[in-house]
Amino acid sequence: MLQEQDKIFTNLHGQNPWNLKDAKKRGDWDGTADLIKQGQVELVNQIKASGLRGRGGAGFSTGTKWSFIRCDDGTPHYLVINADESEPGTCKDRDILRAEPHKLIEGALIAGYAINSHVGYIYVRGEYYREAEILQKAIDEAYEAKLLGKNAAESGWDFDLYVHKGAGAYICGEESALLESLEGKKGQPRLKPPFPAQKGLYGCPTIINNVETISVVPTILRRGAIWFASLGRPNNSGSKIFSISGHVNHPCTVEEEMGIPLKTLIEKHAGGVIGGWDNLLAVIPGGSSVPLLPKSICDTVLMDFDSLKEVKSGLGTAAVIVMDQSTDIIEAIARLSKFYMHESCGQCSPCREGTGWMWRMMDKLAKGHGKSSDIDLLLNISQEIEGHTICALGDAAAWPVQGLIRHFRSEIEKRQQHG
Ligand code: SF4
Repeated sequence: MLQEQDKIFTNLHGQNPWNLKDAKKRGDWDGTADLIKQGQVELVNQIKASGLRGRGGAGFSTGTKWSFIRCDDGTPHYLVINADESEPGTCKDRDILRAEPHKLIEGALIAGYAINSHVGYIYVRGEYYREAEILQKAIDEAYEAKLLGKNAAESGWDFDLYVHKGAGAYICGEESALLESLEGKKGQPRLKPPFPAQKGLYGCPTIINNVETISVVPTILRRGAIWFASLGRPNNSGSKIFSISGHVNHPCTVEEEMGIPLKTLIEKHAGGVIGGWDNLLAVIPGGSSVPLLPKSICDTVLMDFDSLKEVKSGLGTAAVIVMDQSTDIIEAIARLSKFYMHESCGQCSPCREGTGWMWRMMDKLAKGHGKSSDIDLLLNISQEIEGHTICALGDAAAWPVQGLIRHFRSEIEKRQQHG
């Protein structure tokens, strides 16, 4: 479990003001110029050595992603920060934006330098109106204190940072749809390759990172890659913000060590499952798109990328949705199917047609109007969608259904009135 002295986000719940004066007291903006003066290659190597993996869901190595950018190609480079947090159950970036914005801004400057970018954009979910206001005020403060702009923080590097508000479409959290939206177009994912590091914003090399990923960079560099890598488990290093919601006594966001047992996480920080651990039915461990886990797996599973992959789920955004025995689990997953159907951008047919088809079938099964053979048909259709679409929304729609069938098939069968 994470020791108090190893916490990165010491103001996650807004215990103290977010402003620059208080942020500096918490250690932000301390020796930023010295960090930058170590040079681009060194910064990328340190982030690689820390083992930091992207905190937005995919879990790709941040340092490796940065190293895809060639710093000598003479084209403009862009840093884009994804604050379009829209995955149901996820609310960690919101807390950073409203209580620790200076960690993000300092991280943006350092990351911008590391990838040879003089301009950064933070794409904020439209519904995060107040959070975007706070972020803009914090950026204004940083400009006033000469921490952004020309010779930012006396580092010798010029860096401008802009806030862009989205309009509340889930798909704009997909990185290439986000770029389209930022360019003023309809937010629809692009075909890849080329990947954004080759051809991203305005056709230029672009690195897109999640809010939490960028926000932890300054502390990693100040305290050292070895310190960060010593937390968690090999290949799953560091601390992580978890959002815990659903049938728990105290829903919360909390920073914990990677690899913490799920049961400990819920009992220590969220006051336990309502009615006690034995009243647990299932947990969605990483935001609505990852497959659920029944209680028998929740008893022992660890919360990190590799442990959750081993049990055929995922860490995703680390949004833990707890469901107790009172939950109609078929209805709950049907509700998620409806969400993904609604958020499909409609560009490719397996997703456009398949998400609607899955929702209609899920709705039928939840009402008990189906047949047992429909379950295999549904599973088959979900597998035809998975991996056959332009972006990951197809997978995101298929996985909750697959998780339900894997662990609660007999429940679905029992409910069907037509055998
Ligand atoms: Fe659009 Fe869905 Fe295709 Fe993604 S998978 S591009 S959301 S239709």
